[in-house]
Amino acid sequence: MAPTLAEQAFRDKIIAKRQIANYLRKSVPTMAGFSIVYQPQADPAGRIVGAEALLRWDPGCGHVVGPVQIVPLLEDYGMIAGVGRWVVERALCQLVEFRVRGIRLKRMSINVSAPELARRGFASHLMSTVDALGLQPSAVGLELTEGQVLSDADAVVKAVRTLHAAGYSWEIDDFGMGYASIRWLRKQQFTGVKLDRSLVNATDEPPGLIPGIVYLAHALEMTVVAEGVETVERREAMLQAGCDLLQGYLIGRPVPAGEWA
Ligand code: C2E
Ligand code: CA
Ligand code: CA
Repeated sequence: MAPTLAEQAFRDKIIAKRQIANYLRKSVPTMAGFSIVYQPQADPAGRIVGAEALLRWDPGCGHVVGPVQIVPLLEDYGMIAGVGRWVVERALCQLVEFRVRGIRLKRMSINVSAPELARRGFASHLMSTVDALGLQPSAVGLELTEGQVLSDADAVVKAVRTLHAAGYSWEIDDFGMGYASIRWLRKQQFTGVKLDRSLVNATDEPPGLIPGIVYLAHALEMTVVAEGVETVERREAMLQAGCDLLQGYLIGRPVPAGEWA
């Protein structure tokens, strides 16, 4: 019997996924085609004080693939730890290079996956990289989504605690999408939250919601980053709410390091 259109679409999707995974397998040993773009983060006075490192991959056809497509495959096929190490080294070298160029960033934010933390050696590799580059732990911000925290809670909590004790900051990414409470996150030694862009741009939420989250976070000595800020109106609202850092297309798009002035 011929497959239905839905079945065919599903099969095509699986085949495409396998093809990308095969390409990835060939690319990862040399990191061919991988790159990082950097998105600026501004303080309330509008100064660019930080950057977030965001992974990109060009499989060779000139079409750049974003992390939403490749990170789940790298996780599923056991390749994320190697790629994560490369991201840590690359992004922190870039922070040093920015500073040499006179771009005075306080911090580089790096996205981390739970399977990276589940593998032994993440913390020691990060610490030795920071040390070798002459950086301070405060120059690194680590970001994990709530889903990642819950997917392998023991390994994650252990890594969070080890690195928190060594002076590293941890932010919960996409905050507002899941169910974690700020108090619980503080208990796990997260030092900040990043408000998801759907929350930052929501028009159907009570106006007191974001100021309330910021108030609570600050009361627990946690920082708040607003991401996905695209308009002057949202920037003003986030500043009024007391957010510590702003990120989004209005502040700057993610671009290769060479395009940073
Ligand atoms: P994220 O950490 O929430 O990153 C923000 C995403 O929103 C980025 O997409 C960025 O390009 C996009 N963005 C930033 N500002 C705006 C805005 O004002 N409006 C809109 N509409 N979008 C904006 P990207 O680069 O595709 O990254 C997607 C996700 O992939 C990231 O979400 C992060 O969770 C993950 N990721 C990125 N790099 C890495 C990495 O090196 N390792 C791991 N494990 N995950 C990564
Ligand atoms: Ca992030
Ligand atoms: Ca986010």
